[in-house]
Amino acid sequence: MTEQTNPSEQPAEATATCWCVIAHPQTDEERARVQAALENARATNDANGVVLAIAQLTQPCPARRNESKR
Ligand SMILES: [Zn+2]
Repeated sequence: MTEQTNPSEQPAEATATCWCVIAHPQTDEERARVQAALENARATNDANGVVLAIAQLTQPCPARRNESKR
């Protein structure tokens, strides 16, 4: 029996939660919400909001490892 270790097949990781200081969106819906918040922050010159939204969209996240290579 050969071991088939495929790093992209880790179903258990799919339910990993984000425990970062800045919460990261875990679904497309959440991501869309953050992007809307980013556009709103830009429209209102809310620099903190822009930084926060960008951080949510770009920071590396342990809960997101399994989707980083798609
Ligand atoms: Zn995170």
